[in-house]
Amino acid sequence: MPGKSFFIDTSLCTACKGCQVACKQWHDLPAEKTVNRGTYQNPADLSFVTYKLVRFNETVVDGKLKWLFFPDQCRHCLEPPCEMTAEDPGAIFRDPATGAVLFTAYSKDIDTQEVIEACPYNIPRTARDGTLAKCDMCNDRVRNGLLPACVKTCPTGAMNFGDRDEILVMAKNRLATVKKTCPKAKLLDPDDVRVIYLVTEDPMLYHSFAVASNSAFDISRKVALNKLLRPLTRLTAGL
Ligand code: SF4
Ligand code: SF4
Ligand code: SF4
Repeated sequence: MPGKSFFIDTSLCTACKGCQVACKQWHDLPAEKTVNRGTYQNPADLSFVTYKLVRFNETVVDGKLKWLFFPDQCRHCLEPPCEMTAEDPGAIFRDPATGAVLFTAYSKDIDTQEVIEACPYNIPRTARDGTLAKCDMCNDRVRNGLLPACVKTCPTGAMNFGDRDEILVMAKNRLATVKKTCPKAKLLDPDDVRVIYLVTEDPMLYHSFAVASNSAFDISRKVALNKLLRPLTRLTAGL
């Protein structure tokens, strides 16, 4: 299982958006037409052509104004509910070498709504023809010994990538350091995902899908149960 992982230290993120731009550049994705919504978060959300989005949130914590940044992307779950729901390795599969969870052009042939609803982090987005898209871990780069484009471009050290064992050690060490000045600091779902965030405040202040609403384990069990019950549900519907 080890494969690869990311460590995203939001305490070092300056919201320069270099990662967001590098992701578009590497994948040759177009810019999106946007309007001024009174925030630097732009575009408003992830989309079929935006796999990485730096989320901005202004909030007051303990009487002090805080500006929280969250570079959002697919977490490459260890037991991915999207893959389990699709039940079609031609549409969604994992690269056994890296652990990257990958969507293909055949994703338009599966129940995409079910897959979207299964994702605990609200990541997959659809094109007009129904094809699903999201961050692919820059698997082509990683397979050729390169860093993901977003990691390579990050100027502050907020984004890190490497062998999972080393990344877990890095994340835990950094957490111990950050906790000395930010007691609320924590790692988000480190045992369930390959993209591990460090936050210094309540994760919900960064993004409503910063952590899974249930643990990935619970979600996987729910998906497995739905699969078991599906023939019964269809039979009942047919009666
Ligand atoms: Fe933050 Fe690094 Fe992305 Fe800039 S490139 S927004 S510092 S994670
Ligand atoms: Fe984009 Fe690649 Fe980073 Fe994923 S790993 S967010 S695809 S640049
Ligand atoms: Fe799939 Fe969502 Fe997990 Fe990404 S974050 S691997 S899309 S379930």
